Amino acid sequence: MTEHPLNDCREGQHPGEFHFRRLLEKLPAGAYTCDSEGFITYFNPAAERLWGRAPELNDPVDRFCGSFKLFAADGTPITHDQCWMALALRAQEGYNGCEIVIERPDGTCVTALAHANPIRDESGHLLGAVNVLVDISDRKRAEDALKQADRAKNEFLATLAHELRNPLAPIRNAVHILHLLGSSAPELQSALGILERQTKQMARLIDDLLDIARITGGRLELRRERIELGNVVRSAIETGRPLIESCGHELTVSVPGEPIPLTGDLTRLAQVISNLLHNAAKYTDRGGRIWLIAERQGSDAVVTVRDTGIGIPSEMIPRIFEMFTQVDRADQRSRGGLGVGLALVRQLVEMHGGSVSVRSDGPGHGSEFAIRLPVLLEQLAPERSTSESAFAIPAMSLRILVVDDNWDTAATLAVLLRSAGHNIRTAHDGLEAVSAAQEFQPEVILLDIGLPKLNGYDAARQIRALPGGSRMVLMAMTGWGNQSDRIQSKEAGFDHHLVKPVDPMALLQLLALVAQPAAM
Ligand code: ADP
Repeated sequence: MTEHPLNDCREGQHPGEFHFRRLLEKLPAGAYTCDSEGFITYFNPAAERLWGRAPELNDPVDRFCGSFKLFAADGTPITHDQCWMALALRAQEGYNGCEIVIERPDGTCVTALAHANPIRDESGHLLGAVNVLVDISDRKRAEDALKQADRAKNEFLATLAHELRNPLAPIRNAVHILHLLGSSAPELQSALGILERQTKQMARLIDDLLDIARITGGRLELRRERIELGNVVRSAIETGRPLIESCGHELTVSVPGEPIPLTGDLTRLAQVISNLLHNAAKYTDRGGRIWLIAERQGSDAVVTVRDTGIGIPSEMIPRIFEMFTQVDRADQRSRGGLGVGLALVRQLVEMHGGSVSVRSDGPGHGSEFAIRLPVLLEQLAPERSTSESAFAIPAMSLRILVVDDNWDTAATLAVLLRSAGHNIRTAHDGLEAVSAAQEFQPEVILLDIGLPKLNGYDAARQIRALPGGSRMVLMAMTGWGNQSDRIQSKEAGFDHHLVKPVDPMALLQLLALVAQPAAM
């Protein structure tokens, strides 16, 4: 260990100074002083340990406080000239808690919080600075491990949701088939009702999980267009009404007569409002009241969902929009949920440049959630036509190739499509898909993307190159529905991109559209 200048306590030294020096020697934080030019005049053993060497106080280069290998928190090197101390002294100010990384001569690194305080004489003239370096390497390592764990958790959630979605598709198809087969037996009707409600609920939870994983991974993209608030509200009510009615609640809706234009993603904003309606229904005891009020307040569109439900304790209000937050109540578990719905609401609203708020007078006094979105002031392109969804065209028989490596999905889809009068062939991997396409010459191919042997994209490319392949209507069926996924499927030659679990009714309608001679 180097001889420390203040360490040699000489005869005749003031006892206070002796104790002060001893204190500095024992201090676990690095401490050093430098003069008004940034040259080190004293350092303690902890500073030497942090630096990994003792600066040579007789060497004018080595004793400059910028002679160490330093980096800012983001990894950019701090040059000699920019040395934090020099900067601080030049500015003649101190600083507190500046995070730096010191690379020692042996190549190891420490992360430290640097603090500096100027020392001035009585007339305010700068004499130098006293500096403290606190080693925070352990804390940084723990933070990094936490971030890594958080990333792993998000990836796991995304994979889990994605995997849970796959078995849901054949279950929904099977329910639909059972419906089509029909039966007057009340037991079967009631069992079907249960299956339908529960799979819908499961799809909702899985979709919320997937969305949260997408948002935290920065992969959720909005399809922005000019929309009208009334349409958003109507779409949300369509989704929310069955639950509200099944809970015996009374819903009162107020929407202004004149249109309120917005720029945004209609599906996502409807999802936000239907999440709020869903919660209002879920957290209100049977026979309650729910109000949905949409109005314009200056340049904002405000949607309020109020209920006469169980209310929210005041201490939970600040945290209610955080992910996985649930109010700790005796009956919380029986109401179900993952605690992600409101986090999703906030994230989606903020992605639209809006904000969310909540009010409750406490347990038993109901809750009020409000979302505020900027109104579109300038005149943009006309609103999207709704005629797309308004078709009711009789289906003609089509030759359809269904490709899915999940045999249940393929089989149930085949039954469903046959029952609608189509001629079906199934395949279960990419290579089989290409040869079946060549042989069967289908008009439509429903092609899964994650296929063994040859993935859906490559299979689509090979099918397009087959004789007659360019005329086939290719529909991708995949669990991934981002803009980038859609672009990728378009590039591979797909005409449509369907996100699993594919809604059987929507699929039949799309096929009906394809079956129109004009659409072919
Ligand atoms: P969850 O899936 O648990 O419903 P949310 O994120 O949608 O997750 O809501 C978080 C928590 O906020 C809920 O668990 C519930 O305790 C509380 N909460 C949400 N909406 C209401 C409401 N309208 N009334 C009372 N409590 C609510």
